[in-house]
Amino acid sequence: SLLKRVTLLGSTGSIGTQALDVIRAHTGRFQVAALSAHSNADLLIAQAREFRPAVVVIGDERQYETVKTALAGQPTEVLAGPAALTEVAGRPDTDIVLTAMVGYSGLLPTVAAIRAGKDIALANKETLVVAGQLITRLVKEHGVGLYPVDSEHSAIFQCLVGEERNPIEKIILTASGGPFRGRTAEQLASVTKAQALKHPNWDMGAKITIDSASLMNKGLEVIEAKWLFGLTNDQIDVVVHPQSIIHSLVQFQDGSLKAQLGLPDMKLPIQYALGYPERLPSDFPRFSFLDYPQLTFEQPDRATFRNLPLAFEAMRQGGNAPCVLNAANEIAVAAFLRDEIGFLQMPSLVESCLTKVSYLAEPSLDDYVQTDQETRRVAHELVGRL
Ligand code: NDP
Ligand code: MG
Repeated sequence: SLLKRVTLLGSTGSIGTQALDVIRAHTGRFQVAALSAHSNADLLIAQAREFRPAVVVIGDERQYETVKTALAGQPTEVLAGPAALTEVAGRPDTDIVLTAMVGYSGLLPTVAAIRAGKDIALANKETLVVAGQLITRLVKEHGVGLYPVDSEHSAIFQCLVGEERNPIEKIILTASGGPFRGRTAEQLASVTKAQALKHPNWDMGAKITIDSASLMNKGLEVIEAKWLFGLTNDQIDVVVHPQSIIHSLVQFQDGSLKAQLGLPDMKLPIQYALGYPERLPSDFPRFSFLDYPQLTFEQPDRATFRNLPLAFEAMRQGGNAPCVLNAANEIAVAAFLRDEIGFLQMPSLVESCLTKVSYLAEPSLDDYVQTDQETRRVAHELVGRL
């Protein structure tokens, strides 16, 4: 049938609510099978009343009664807690699982969805950073589709349609540079979280907004791209493009470059991932070159924004190093958002964790879980000492 049933994990977030806008605009094509939130019970309840999914999961168990009571008489089962999220991700009555939760919390539900043979629309890039080797192996074993939602990766994915037989020479990920592009390390030392939370081009959740300001987001995207497109470490370049119109590029072995362009609007890559291989109609604002007479490009400042070279280094090390990088960064961002550490202490924390947590070359799923926990312990200790 043409109707796709969508499990939307992280439905109350920036990506989640935009995904529901896309689904609402195409009710003949998409139907919501399941929704989940971490603690925003009110929005989850409103979404469940509108979309009438078979099941919802509230991550925070203390909110279970609230959600259960509010949805009494609705056709929706209510569950709570992280184990329920993983169980729901692997349920049979759905076609595609959109992973729009933030951080490491995506790993186990994504694994469960793949093992259940579901296609994945992947917004939760941290899952591929943490366990790209394992996830891509499972995707192959179970023959499921893995469709990127991240705008850069969607751009590359779109450029590769019809090019299945043509090897990639390299890809170029574009980066906006974030709100602190051009600043010196001295200036960065004293930036506040309010300044870091103001992204010039995109309105996103807090964690990815801080990652964009520190260039960790681009570092995570480099690792995400490696696994999505089966690239070697040397096939990935980053260029700063402050207007965020060219969403990324692919270079083929004849030297030809293909790019995907558009206004910065996550609904387009969300809709492409959900609708693939079809391009569904949209009323998203159209791009006009005349509004952007200057598209500019520059090198990222790797000496000042140390997260970018740290991510490349973790990618080169492989094994559990990207998992360490991710967990250390999650603790660092949370500490920065609580005003416990400064902006430049985030990369320092990541770097220390990469040297302190023991290296594993061929981690199992359980090893990733252990590495994540161990890194969080080490990172918390370091935050306490700063
Ligand atoms: P938000 O913070 O806006 O939303 C996160 C969602 O996940 C919310 O539904 C939240 O629930 C839920 N959530 C939070 N913590 C947990 C947890 N521990 N377990 C389960 N669910 C949880 O994030 P974004 O929408 O901005 O980002 C989501 C993912 O998409 C990230 O991986 C991000 O990197 C990626 N992405 C986002 C882009 C964007 O434009 N926003 C662009 C490209 C990628 P609650 O609301 O109850 O807290
Ligand atoms: Mg992106």
